[in-house]
Amino acid sequence: MDFSTAPELEDLLERASDFMDREVYPLESTMRESFEEALPLANEARERCKSTGLWAPQMPSEYGGMGLAFLPHAHMSEVLGRSPLGHYIFGCQAPDAGNMEILHKFGSEQQKERWLRPLASGQIRSCFSMTEPDRAGSNPTWLDTTAVRDGDDYVINGRKWFTTGGHLADVAIVMAVTNPDAAPHMRASQIIVPTNSPGFHHIRRLSVMGEEGYGWSSHSEIAYQDCRVPVDNLLGQEGFGFTIAQERLGPGRIHHCMRWLGICERAFDLMCDRAARRMVSPNKPLGSRQAVQHWIAESRAEIDAARWMVYHAAWKIDREGTRAARSEISSIKFFAAGVLQRVLDRAIQVHGALGMTDDTPLAWFFRHERAARIYDGPDEVHKSALARAILKNYGIELGSQGS
Ligand SMILES: Cc1cc2nc3c(=O)[nH]c(=O)nc-3n(C[C@H](O)[C@H](O)[C@H](O)COP(=O)(O)OP(=O)(O)OC[C@H]3O[C@@H](n4cnc5c(N)ncnc54)[C@H](O)[C@@H]3O)c2cc1C
Repeated sequence: MDFSTAPELEDLLERASDFMDREVYPLESTMRESFEEALPLANEARERCKSTGLWAPQMPSEYGGMGLAFLPHAHMSEVLGRSPLGHYIFGCQAPDAGNMEILHKFGSEQQKERWLRPLASGQIRSCFSMTEPDRAGSNPTWLDTTAVRDGDDYVINGRKWFTTGGHLADVAIVMAVTNPDAAPHMRASQIIVPTNSPGFHHIRRLSVMGEEGYGWSSHSEIAYQDCRVPVDNLLGQEGFGFTIAQERLGPGRIHHCMRWLGICERAFDLMCDRAARRMVSPNKPLGSRQAVQHWIAESRAEIDAARWMVYHAAWKIDREGTRAARSEISSIKFFAAGVLQRVLDRAIQVHGALGMTDDTPLAWFFRHERAARIYDGPDEVHKSALARAILKNYGIELGSQGS
């Protein structure tokens, strides 16, 4: 396995880092009040990002992107993850990036022109509406929301929540049951729903850790009440919603992990800098204390371990595909999320009261990234999946719920 980066990629990552230094970090203080306040400046920075050729790393050039392959994009994700605004300013923020990927892969030519092109250029925003308040999101084959055919339309009914970026989005991709009598994995479809469709109701932005957020940086509850869209808005084939979701989530988890590594490195830098500069008595920096030294050493080792695990999973996806790398993806999803949480916690501890304020990005990361252990599959689901795959080699076949 060779995980070294090619000189062209090194050059690209350096350009991206320079852009982060010049255009992204300086905007962070505006975001601490609210994303709404950062938005005008962030959107100006987006335009400059486009003109430097660093826009939309994951999209092909015919859609105005850089056309990076999977692994180089993962490396970019680490650089951009160092700031809460990085992915947004570079045009590859979740959930738009995942929606672009599935529109590109499964969308009709008409759907691509209508939705993918303006999404890729950053003219519009999208959201992904799968999780429901009344159904366990950890079992995505069990949904209440239905889409029933009525002539040339689907009529959608159901309630969703944690639809990230649903506030002021232009379009939603909705998971709804279209084939209730099919096998559990073949019941739901993904349907493109413009948010101005009749019956699309934005109920509220959920307050998450005390923050309602705004626009892209928020999570919404949405009601679909006799929401009507043309059947042409079906993405891919009927009953393939779960398959498309899996396509999106596998590689998406690698990108999340790389973004988390970027956050870890930023938190690590801040922690070390504080340990070196903050004096606990004359000429005695915090870093002279053994507890702080141990936090630094443990964090370094854990971040490095997570990074090599992520590279290994990405390497296996590249060589053998997402399905073959399922166990590696499960391992890194819970391992990297745990490292992220521990590193952020230590960095806040080293900062003392300052760590609790929004004068550094640590508190923002801590509030928003606690969810890393929950979304895209909670820790426990990934641990069980990994253990089941291992136990299979020991002659035990267990169903997905351990039955
Ligand atoms: C910040 C954030 C953003 C999100 N963005 C989106 C989005 O854009 N679109 C969208 O559709 N959804 C989104 N989600 C929802 C997310 O996908 C779900 O929260 C996740 O799938 C878990 O579902 P749940 O919350 O219903 O928890 P549940 O399924 O109710 O599970 C609760 C807990 O039970 C435990 N558990 C569950 N299953 C098992 C098991 N098999 N074995 C052992 N323990 C188990 C886990 O500890 C889990 O955390 C987001 C969530 C968050 C927090």
